[in-house]
Amino acid sequence: MTEFTFYPHSVVWEITFACNMRCIHCGTSAGKKRPDELTDDEALKLCDELAALGTKWLTISGGEPLLRPDWQQIARRAKADGIEIGIISNGYALDEDAADAIAGIGFTNVGLSFDGIEKTHNYIRQRDDSFRRVTNAMDFLHKRGVKFCAVSQISNLNIGEMDQMRRILIEHHANAWQVQLTTTTGRMKGLADMILSLDNYPRLIDKLLELRALDGLKVNVGENIGYYGCKGTELWDELPYLGCYAGTRILGVESNGTIKGCLSMPEDFVEGNIRERSLTEIWNDPNGFAYNRRFTRESADGPCRDCHYLPMCRGGCTTTSYSQTGCIANNPYCIYQMELRQGIKPPPDPEAIAEVLARFDGPPARQTGTE
Ligand code: SF4
Ligand code: SF4
Repeated sequence: MTEFTFYPHSVVWEITFACNMRCIHCGTSAGKKRPDELTDDEALKLCDELAALGTKWLTISGGEPLLRPDWQQIARRAKADGIEIGIISNGYALDEDAADAIAGIGFTNVGLSFDGIEKTHNYIRQRDDSFRRVTNAMDFLHKRGVKFCAVSQISNLNIGEMDQMRRILIEHHANAWQVQLTTTTGRMKGLADMILSLDNYPRLIDKLLELRALDGLKVNVGENIGYYGCKGTELWDELPYLGCYAGTRILGVESNGTIKGCLSMPEDFVEGNIRERSLTEIWNDPNGFAYNRRFTRESADGPCRDCHYLPMCRGGCTTTSYSQTGCIANNPYCIYQMELRQGIKPPPDPEAIAEVLARFDGPPARQTGTE
């Protein structure tokens, strides 16, 4: 058993806030470039600092990362620093040249946003040709042997299209499909009725279980879908779901150097800016990322507070819980809670879960956790 140490293992960096779309579900309301984005030099230095802090994975995102003129230099520098790199793009500007560059740089992960059949995708993305462009991007990548993953946010708008979406992705040679929930952040704050309703949530869980059992396209479940109980345990392959790692193993960087534990978190979770204190200082601040590093049962509320799984799950995705209830661990999107309310008895804890749970004999905080 090794002690759980804090280091920014996986970093998601919004290299620019500029975007060529205005998606209605955008969690950050991206659009125009921020006036104070990191300079080329600052960006390259940040790559080096991340490597020194032990970062293993860097995903460059946006906005739309391909709109930042030096996106290739940033990716190459991080790679030269020994960091595995990934990119998430909406595919709109991913033409044959960009596909050549992606293939040449050697990204470990390439993610393309994909939100529904043509009509739905174009509506969500607010551009009539966005479906055509993203499916072209898939074909360009496939032609060059680049493996890619489609990333979909599920809401009331596209929950009924998941079979068709899967067929489209297979047709365009996606290697995996990452499915996550749309949350009430960014532009979605004004469109709360689009968020997957709690009535529809069991339907999503059932659909994911069905799709994951099929051959032909690997379906990965996003961190904001679960947890425990009969179906949640099955969805996570009977492995322990270990909650949100924001600020303990995960880090988010905004295009102007603002730091959060996770890029999806709202402004309340800002820890500082690398122009005021170095990233190393921010990360090593003993008072930093307290919501997660000093999590206790008192941090939770509602059904999460007394939950058997709280020491491991800690309310699931912090952003999802906070955006729904204003509490970091009072997450209504939990199939375990729903099953309990229906009188469904949870299964005995599988060995892997029981083993990890037994290690948490103190408060459910990260500092008492183990690897
Ligand atoms: S009730 Fe809360 S802590 Fe328990 S499994 Fe659900 S989300 Fe996790
Ligand atoms: S806030 Fe949610 S998406 Fe972000 S690190 Fe935590 S669990 Fe993952």
